[in-house]
Amino acid sequence: MHEMDRDHASAGRAPAAHTVPDVDERRRLPRTDVLLADPRLVAAAERLGRGLVKDVVTGVQARARAGEVPVGEVADHAVAALPATACALRPVINATGVLLHTNLGRAALSAAAREAVLAASGTTDVELDLATGARSRRGRSALDALLRAVPAAGAAHVVNNGAAALVLAATALAQGREIIVSRGEMVEIGDGFRLPDLLASTGARLREVGTTNRTTRADYAAAVGPDTGFVLKVHPSNFRVTGFTREASVAELAALGVPVVADIGSGLLAPDPVLPGEPDAASRLRAGASLVTASGDKLLGGPQCGLVLGDTELVRRLARHPLARAVRVDKLTLAALEATVRGPDTPTRTALHADPARLRQRAERLAAELRADGIDSRAVGTDAVVGGGGAPGVTLPSAAVSLPARYAAPLRGADPAVLARVEEGRCLLDVRAVPEDADAALAAAVRRAAVAREAPDVPGRGA
Ligand SMILES: *Cc1c(COP(=O)(O)O)cnc(C)c1O
Repeated sequence: MHEMDRDHASAGRAPAAHTVPDVDERRRLPRTDVLLADPRLVAAAERLGRGLVKDVVTGVQARARAGEVPVGEVADHAVAALPATACALRPVINATGVLLHTNLGRAALSAAAREAVLAASGTTDVELDLATGARSRRGRSALDALLRAVPAAGAAHVVNNGAAALVLAATALAQGREIIVSRGEMVEIGDGFRLPDLLASTGARLREVGTTNRTTRADYAAAVGPDTGFVLKVHPSNFRVTGFTREASVAELAALGVPVVADIGSGLLAPDPVLPGEPDAASRLRAGASLVTASGDKLLGGPQCGLVLGDTELVRRLARHPLARAVRVDKLTLAALEATVRGPDTPTRTALHADPARLRQRAERLAAELRADGIDSRAVGTDAVVGGGGAPGVTLPSAAVSLPARYAAPLRGADPAVLARVEEGRCLLDVRAVPEDADAALAAAVRRAAVAREAPDVPGRGA
């Protein structure tokens, strides 16, 4: 989004400082095939693909025709404009103070999860028992890791995302039947995406009970009948209702004699004292939920996926439903999920549990270093948030390097890009979601932004 805005802005700028080359000079512009024979570009084509390199070359030729690149330097500029990888996605340092930033892909994977992804990215035994040579349960080691982490669950299943987990549960357990849900939990997840619409799209009927602010066990009990597929308990993860409110607990609903599906949203497997209001899978299952659904890339800190944990027979019904194949996860996701669940603390957990005094020290050290380079910077206290539609109303004390607002745009154009927060005319680099080992890269990006009068040209596809 930010990059598109910037590209759009630069596209509208006239190349006033350049003079368009005359006819003779334009004749000297090397042909595309000649440029593509440059050894540096031949090597690049092997690494990145010929189509991508050709796009870069034709882009630089166009700039030469417009007088923006000297005709004799087209090959050099093309080499400089080559992207680092064949994918246009760029790494971004998250200095927003929003731990799970949806536009930045939510959770960052741990080093262990990244290694697991790389190891699984070739051919791998995702669905094969190497001891016998026979086919085996897909992703069994990831499922085993989940069950070890949540012993209260009899079985586990993994799908593409939290929404897919709910759709699969609604389709397999309530198609043509009713899902009982409180009016206080008919939520919109984000980006115009509404849970009731999602559930209704499966052919299940929503049976709304209670009111926006108050729903009791008796409201649910009065709605239970032969048509009931399950009772759905949704964690309203991105807002809070306060004041004259009441909700029925999972334990109360479990006594109604129909399955209770608890959508906890953020994927905490066990309680986290830092977020006392955030539901977790183990507690919900112990309270009597038949199934828990959650996202993998929120507080769990793993890859995008949807978790289904709980009653063995119900999980089996979901996993065997024909729709399960359409929302099946790939080997990379299973690898990252397993390493996330088994492995060391995730970047998300580290950021969530960071010591505020340490964050303050980091911000002060960075600000002092930058001031020594003549950059207007100071450390300030901030409030970070969980984000990603989680833990609404919870603020986490944090610290930031405060810079003039004009730094925000060149920082987005840096490599790695840095996304800051602009507040009250200042560009704030909140360090809570920045891994400590990225502080040096953050400082280097600020130094480069200080000398850039505008966002520098970023080598990219078709640049
Ligand atoms: C985030 C969330 C979802 C959607 O999960 P995705 O993984 O984004 O599909 C569903 N329900 C709740 C309560 C959530 O917080």
